[in-house]
Amino acid sequence: MTAIKSKKRIFLSSPHMSGNEYKYIHEAFETNWIAPLGPNVDAFEKEIAFYVRANEAVAVSSGTAAIHLALSLLDVEKGDKVFCSSLTFVASANPIIYQGAEPVFIDSEPDTWNMSPQALERAFSDAQIEGELPKAVIIVNLYGQSAKMDELLSICDSYHVPVIEDAAESLGSSYNGKASGTFGHFGVYSFNGNKIITTSGGGMLVSNDVDSLRNARFLATQARDPAPHYQHSKIGFNYRMSNILAGIGRAQLEILDERVKARRSIFELYRKELANLPGIYFMPELKDTISNRWLTALTINKEESGFTVEELLRFLTEENIEARPVWKPLHLQPIFQGLRYYAHSETSSISEKLFKNGVCLPSGSNMTEDDQMRIIDCIKEMMNVCAERRKVV
Ligand SMILES: *Cc1c(COP(=O)(O)O)cnc(C)c1O
Repeated sequence: MTAIKSKKRIFLSSPHMSGNEYKYIHEAFETNWIAPLGPNVDAFEKEIAFYVRANEAVAVSSGTAAIHLALSLLDVEKGDKVFCSSLTFVASANPIIYQGAEPVFIDSEPDTWNMSPQALERAFSDAQIEGELPKAVIIVNLYGQSAKMDELLSICDSYHVPVIEDAAESLGSSYNGKASGTFGHFGVYSFNGNKIITTSGGGMLVSNDVDSLRNARFLATQARDPAPHYQHSKIGFNYRMSNILAGIGRAQLEILDERVKARRSIFELYRKELANLPGIYFMPELKDTISNRWLTALTINKEESGFTVEELLRFLTEENIEARPVWKPLHLQPIFQGLRYYAHSETSSISEKLFKNGVCLPSGSNMTEDDQMRIIDCIKEMMNVCAERRKVV
């Protein structure tokens, strides 16, 4: 175990700069646009809106802030319910609590690992019987894969409930040729350090509803009324993106397509090397969708492979490789104990199975092929050791 430290650390997904970032940061310094807002922010918003073909975009301080603004714009308030994917990062649901509302968690289905239309339908039908429809539905696109938007949107539309698409992990992905993040009333992207492109920290709210986005800008800058004397008739937030960070974002956006290509190649190499091994099943890609493959995710059937996710994670940690289990479903989180959850079917909770058997492998676009082969060799070695062990028994 003493050799650990000498092995180069491989990260799950670390920031990958293009070099062009300096140009925009330098411009900001030269013109002293160091404050939040400024020409980089305006340009970054326009460039993102153009890239995803949304009418408009509002740059904010994080993806979480963008979700919070969206809920606020949809008048989600104390006592309201909001339906939300269960298999996701906690940031998808925390803003529901900020608003004093209550999340109702919806399970995944096996084809995309995202929100199950049949579970959503059951949740809606119960809500209607109880006479209390949710104010909004938050649909997450996990690890870059779009949810089954046609089915999900048609259910939400039939109940006239607006959708917030949490596309924090799926910038650069598409569904039927349309950009991920442009399906809901609002779409949310994140530029946190581990995402496919980063501003070190930041987020974006997109929509075709330009009036709402004007309101988003107002709320995100402390809801200051148009008066010279700092008058406020609403509670606002300090959520706008800084002009320096937007400069980083502009340079990152220029190479987004390259980053998608790189992450997809990383996925392909894992698949080529590992898919034939017993008990390894890669996260599927739904027909007519393109996933940015932000993280390569797979499940392990321990009866077939001979080892569990925990054993693999422990082994990779010893090799100084950072891998992670799949997100712990939110309905299992201590902070959300006792809240309602709709499983995929009466007998099957897909998100719980994915959590128990799922793992995300290092997928950073700055990882070398040698790095990746080191990871692949570790998994093959684990496989061999387990096969030997079984022969002996
Ligand atoms: C990263 C992430 C967020 C939050 O984005 P931040 O910019 O870190 O606030 C929200 N939802 C999902 C699914 C994420 O992966």
